[in-house]
Amino acid sequence: MRKYKIAVVPGDGIGPEIVPAVLKIIEAIGEKEGFRIEKVFYPWGAGNYLKYGEFMPSNGLDILKPYDAIFFGSVGLPEVDDTLPAKDYTFKVRTGFQQYVNFRPVRTYPGFHGPLKEKKDIDFVVVRENTEGEFVQVGSQIMPDSADGMGIDTSVFTRKGIERIAHYSFKLARQRKKLVHHITKSNTLINSLTYWDRVINEVAEQYPDVEHRQMYIDNCSANFVLHPEIFDVVLTTNLFGDILSDLGGAIMGSLGLGGSGNINPEKEYPSMFEPIHGSAPDIAGKNIANPLGTVWSASLMLDHLGEKVAAQKIMEAMDKTCAAGILPVDLGGNAGTTQIADAIIERL
Ligand code: ATP
Repeated sequence: MRKYKIAVVPGDGIGPEIVPAVLKIIEAIGEKEGFRIEKVFYPWGAGNYLKYGEFMPSNGLDILKPYDAIFFGSVGLPEVDDTLPAKDYTFKVRTGFQQYVNFRPVRTYPGFHGPLKEKKDIDFVVVRENTEGEFVQVGSQIMPDSADGMGIDTSVFTRKGIERIAHYSFKLARQRKKLVHHITKSNTLINSLTYWDRVINEVAEQYPDVEHRQMYIDNCSANFVLHPEIFDVVLTTNLFGDILSDLGGAIMGSLGLGGSGNINPEKEYPSMFEPIHGSAPDIAGKNIANPLGTVWSASLMLDHLGEKVAAQKIMEAMDKTCAAGILPVDLGGNAGTTQIADAIIERL
């Protein structure tokens, strides 16, 4: 029997409700497809910070490194400074493990109509650069209390960083509809993003079989709503990707629907899989959180581990569940988190 070592970090808010429910789905498909997951839970996050003063132990990355993958819920609580979760957990893992691809797919689900007027055939992936760009957190606040105070953040775009995310995107497009939109704002960010454009254009020349279009972020945002069917692979910077993927979740019908993977394609380090939504403390503890984004993340994790059939079967069972009208509250249904997970297991 194939075995995978999974570090489970349920996190805060709705994470500890959704993650165990979805682990049951992974275990159920594992039994059918001949693999087993050896899971170890780590109670890290904002709750841990309130108790012990740290989101994760200082040797957290050493602890996580031997695992095949990290299955993560969400991090953050209203009573904890909301600049800390990214700085002290998410960015540490993403950067420390060179998870330079943030893979965030968007598609139409069966069984309900999203917020767009016409139901369109949407199926694209936002590939967000995940380790540099606008989120490197290099900068400072100068005389913040004075009338001349200022805050400065520096964006960092390196040739290496752009090349590797561009190659990933063009290779991905080859397995899909062979179309990459690269998202930019080089008409105003004339240093960082003209360099981003230049390096992507150089990489694009190595993939003559893949169509490549450049699009400004403002135009792209409008097109996500007006013409989402035109996209296949959407290659974006860290900040643009953060915003676009939430918009992607919204056009599907809810933030609760989006799955994602923080991927180290070379598999030198473990990759981390998480839903795109946050900890949603307003709905925590009520068993009403939508688990479908986390189910999708589980499917992405299994695909990354090489369990392609299991990954596909989870998506099919999820679609059957939605098509049968078993829907969470945020999509207008009345099924609870655990009830949806059970319904998916029944349909595997
Ligand atoms: P973060 O910055 O950590 O991504 P956020 O500020 O974007 O977090 P979320 O925690 O994602 O905020 O939640 C925003 C709102 O969306 C929540 O208040 C909640 O009502 C809704 N929401 C998010 N995730 C879900 C879910 N899985 N099921 C149902 N509703 C959700």
